[in-house]
Amino acid sequence: FEHLLTFHHQMEAVSHIAAGVAHELRNPLSVIKGFMQLAKLTGDHEKYYDTVISELNRMNSIIEDFLSVSRKKIDRKKQSPAHIMESLIEIMKAECLLHDVELTLNIEEADRHVYANESMVKQVMLNLLRNSIEAYGGSNTARKFSIHAAACDSVYRVIISDNGKGMPDEVLEQLGKPFFTTKESGTGIGIPLCKKIIEDHGGEFIIESKLSVGTTVSLTLPFIPPSN
Ligand code: ADP
Ligand code: MG
Repeated sequence: FEHLLTFHHQMEAVSHIAAGVAHELRNPLSVIKGFMQLAKLTGDHEKYYDTVISELNRMNSIIEDFLSVSRKKIDRKKQSPAHIMESLIEIMKAECLLHDVELTLNIEEADRHVYANESMVKQVMLNLLRNSIEAYGGSNTARKFSIHAAACDSVYRVIISDNGKGMPDEVLEQLGKPFFTTKESGTGIGIPLCKKIIEDHGGEFIIESKLSVGTTVSLTLPFIPPSN
């Protein structure tokens, strides 16, 4: 009987996730469809390409998130952490432009390297941006998103802040639990996945948030010790 109960709960979780994924993919898909129809109708193709590409990127990163949950081993390479951050600038700028978000970047070079999987670190950053975009709501204040990254002793520290709606204590307490979401069709895998990726890199992932003020994530990537 007990295993049936577990099975029931698992199926419930699966159907919740399936609904979330379907919804998350359907959104960008309908944007793409609409813009392609517009392009066809007006013959004005150029104008719609950026949005279509950006929505395709979004779909791709949602699929990536789901694949990452089941990924056991990650491939890491010795590299410059500032270089990883800089490789994100173009896509960050495009996303922020599209969602009317004011982006502040302050990325300092470091003279040491980290041992990292570049695409997974990017995935973390894009998940955080996605959450911020979903947290701005319809208020009149300018939407701000900032990234400060710099060496700090033995780690490269990245601080990501938004001035979105923030989180109440009840949400903060649950944060990080797989599948915890407050969104009607959220999946609740963004934050647990970010935390897992950073911790798999030997780093720290900390979220602070104040209701109606905003949210700040602080994450670290440890430098490779000088002797290595
Ligand atoms: P999802 O985005 O699918 O809900 P996440 O794991 O990415 O799942 O986030 C879990 C929950 O944490 C969200 O539903 C939301 O309530 C809260 N949250 C995450 N990031 C932010 C943020 N930047 N501002 C406000 N709330 C956030
Ligand atoms: Mg999310």
